[in-house]
Amino acid sequence: MPFAAAVVICFFVLMISLLIYVFPMLSMHPLANGAIEGTDIITIKNRSNNLFFIPSGEDWIVIDAGSDIKSIKQEMEQLSIDERRVKSVFLTHTDYDHVASIPLFPNAAIYMSKQEKQMIDGSTNRQFVKKNSLPKSNNSNKIIYLTDNEVTDFYNHKIRIIHAPGHTKGSAMYALDEKYLFTGDAFKITDNRILVHPYTMDRKMAQKTIQSIKAELKNYEKVFTAHYGFIENNIT
Ligand SMILES: [Zn+2]
Repeated sequence: MPFAAAVVICFFVLMISLLIYVFPMLSMHPLANGAIEGTDIITIKNRSNNLFFIPSGEDWIVIDAGSDIKSIKQEMEQLSIDERRVKSVFLTHTDYDHVASIPLFPNAAIYMSKQEKQMIDGSTNRQFVKKNSLPKSNNSNKIIYLTDNEVTDFYNHKIRIIHAPGHTKGSAMYALDEKYLFTGDAFKITDNRILVHPYTMDRKMAQKTIQSIKAELKNYEKVFTAHYGFIENNIT
């Protein structure tokens, strides 16, 4: 094959790969920084996703850790959240954009689904040869693995894990006091419909998860996603 033809093919392959990766990002619409109206939850927007901070007495519970430590730290200062007071981080799954800022919360215990362990212990690849991992920090070895429906009790809150596999093999959601649901990347929201999230490992499994949880969603006041804001009781 002539060199010029090879260059053109490589260029197109690169452009198509870029489009496949970049296009879904453009439709993401995370929430703006600050308090979520009608709740005591605070969110920080980090690149294309949200971290959620839940007050628990003097401490904070965080759902997903985000990726850009520097900007999260700045926003936390603006919102008067002391990172030393973050005592628990619940991970919906172990993709980079949800875990990379774990070192920002050195006093936090890390909670995640037992099924997600395979994604970070080297036994299941995320994509082709790519593996997930947690960043090195003094708490990355102190993980509390949760089984489906296990409830973790806090000073003034209860958090129940609900398995929602598909996006990754052990993806999970968290119900806060059976009032709010944090779904991570279990699905995306488009025009108030819930659909399979982009970059999903096993679309069939994700679809099955969506079918099994759809009817339950109306039981929550608000259903928060990581990249697409939240929905309230009018889910189709
Ligand atoms: Zn994500």
